[in-house]
Amino acid sequence: MRQVEGTVFDARNRRLKRMPVLWLAGFFTVLVCFSITSITLWQLRQSRNHELDIADTTVANLSRSMAQQADDTFDQADIPVAGIVERLSFDGFGSASSSRMHEFLRATAASVEQIQGLFIYDKEGNWAATSMSHVPANANNADREYFQFHKAIDSTLPYIGQAVRSRTTGDWIIPLSRRVNDSAGNFAGVVLATIELSYFDRFFDRFDIGKHGVLTLAMANGTVLARRPTLENVRGVSIAEGELFRTYLKEQYEGTATVRSFLDHEMRLYGYKRLDRYPLVVLAGLSEQEVLDEWRQYAWRSLATIVCVVVANLLFGVLLFQQIRFGLNAESQLRIASHSLEKLALQDSLTGLANRRHFQEILGLEFVSGQANLHPLSLIMIDIDFFKSYNDNYGHVAGDKCIVAVAECIRSNLNRTGDLAVRYGGEEMAVFLPYSEAQGAYVLAEKIRLAVLARAIEHKGNPDKIVSISLGVYGCGAQECPTMEAFVERADSALYTAKHQGRNRTVMG
Ligand code: GH3
Ligand code: MG
Ligand code: MG
Repeated sequence: MRQVEGTVFDARNRRLKRMPVLWLAGFFTVLVCFSITSITLWQLRQSRNHELDIADTTVANLSRSMAQQADDTFDQADIPVAGIVERLSFDGFGSASSSRMHEFLRATAASVEQIQGLFIYDKEGNWAATSMSHVPANANNADREYFQFHKAIDSTLPYIGQAVRSRTTGDWIIPLSRRVNDSAGNFAGVVLATIELSYFDRFFDRFDIGKHGVLTLAMANGTVLARRPTLENVRGVSIAEGELFRTYLKEQYEGTATVRSFLDHEMRLYGYKRLDRYPLVVLAGLSEQEVLDEWRQYAWRSLATIVCVVVANLLFGVLLFQQIRFGLNAESQLRIASHSLEKLALQDSLTGLANRRHFQEILGLEFVSGQANLHPLSLIMIDIDFFKSYNDNYGHVAGDKCIVAVAECIRSNLNRTGDLAVRYGGEEMAVFLPYSEAQGAYVLAEKIRLAVLARAIEHKGNPDKIVSISLGVYGCGAQECPTMEAFVERADSALYTAKHQGRNRTVMG
């Protein structure tokens, strides 16, 4: 019974041990894979955001620089225009056609790079003076939008009109004009400076914006004035329906946004800015694809590395898992083997009862540890009657079976934990009963004896014609036990007495 308990405990212990080690190995492998993957993805995300942040700053700076340049371009063109208006107001409109004025206009247009030409128109739109060397016959600009504007509105501010093709050169120009009043304050004419849009193209060419970047100068209403890269017939096209104009520029004067281009459908990061003093807007865009190009290559390399590391880790995890399982199985096999060996060492192979060695150990434990003094102990010695003759009559094999039958009778009558049935030697057996008084042991001995008789195993050599046993019982109370040897001796001599008194009986020692 002690052994059965031990076996159950060991098995439970083994199961408990096996589970966490395997689970831990699996959990650890998955944790490592998960950590490596999530750290890399997090880093990739961070570096992507970093690239986009840099691009964001770049387009914001670009748009500010373009706005400043556009402001300066128109300011520089407006200075001579304002000067001429002042001169005409002071000297009278008649001075417009003087050769001195013509020389002044020519020299000014030549010295200011962005000015293509300077013009003075009278109140009918006729050309009064120009910086050009050639004046077309019957030239009249009364139909131009800026002329109509100044004629209608009495304002001293400069006016920027729609981009048009120059009637003189065919180049795209943008008009900057001011109204001239006579001394009575009535409309007397218009002074105009035409600014070459190719001037902006040359300026835009100085920036490195990649293959798919874009720089645009547009009117506040969305009409494109200059764009890099130049598209077929792009000047004069309206991008007012694009997302930047529809949403962002409506709400803010300047900022950055990632939107799809209205003209070429490229996804770009844009910096946009509305000019403070002129009805113009500048846009600087970098292609998102190009901005993230290097990052994308880095990301692919990182992901490939991660896949390799994760696969290697999983393979290693599977190997580790198998090794642990193999180790645990080997351990469990060893345990089973060692348990069987232990059993073999302590058990009698014929009857399955404890062997004499085990009996000696248990008895030794009881007496050496002093337990014998704390509670009663009893011992029943059992011997089969006329067994020699049984062997002679039925053979050794039958003799063995008879011994097994008697052992079963003994075992089936034991029901208390700690009781130990022993094959003492040959056809002699014993029952050690810790915690039992002599009287209790005697009752049990009689039960065993009757159980053997009840089996009615034929035995010609026994006067009763069936197998019987003789039993010697000795028991001692707590504090009363003799030495171990004397304890066994007393039970043995009781058995001897039983034999002498005629066998098939139980005698108390
Ligand atoms: P008694 O009634 O006085 O006990 O007479 P007995 O013939 O049984 O005498 P004893 O106890 O001295 O005899 C023991 C015999 O038991 C000797 C041997 O032939 C037989 N024996 C001992 N061990 C075994 C065994 O393992 N198997 C078999 N079949 N016989 C055994
Ligand atoms: Mg004997
Ligand atoms: Mg005998």
